[in-house]
Amino acid sequence: MKVIHGRAQGKPSEQRGPTFTGVVWADPVMAPTDGVGINHVFFSPGARTHWHTHAQGQILQVTGGSGWICVHGQQAEPIRTGDFVWIGPHEKHWHGASADSYMSHVAISLGDADWLEEVSEQDYRQAR
Ligand code: MN
Repeated sequence: MKVIHGRAQGKPSEQRGPTFTGVVWADPVMAPTDGVGINHVFFSPGARTHWHTHAQGQILQVTGGSGWICVHGQQAEPIRTGDFVWIGPHEKHWHGASADSYMSHVAISLGDADWLEEVSEQDYRQAR
């Protein structure tokens, strides 16, 4: 038997702070390596990122619950367990949980993130 650990050894879960709205925890899976970082992120209902971009893009794999992905200027799209999302370089977006469900995803982030303004309640409410 072999256990493949889903969190980097010796690293505690981290509560995410000022670039998120609501309660968000993350397990560091792989510290930034060659410009690639991997985190398993857990959003409580209603929690979400701020608007942001990734210099080289980002891959999300939804591992539980349901939520939203929204690219600036477009309608938010629902995402749920098993879904994958590709976000292109410098695409302004946010991701997070539904108002009535937690959501967890693995985030494979390529290059530096540029964090922008909070997603307003009005913008979040339109994602329904
Ligand atoms: Mn992102």
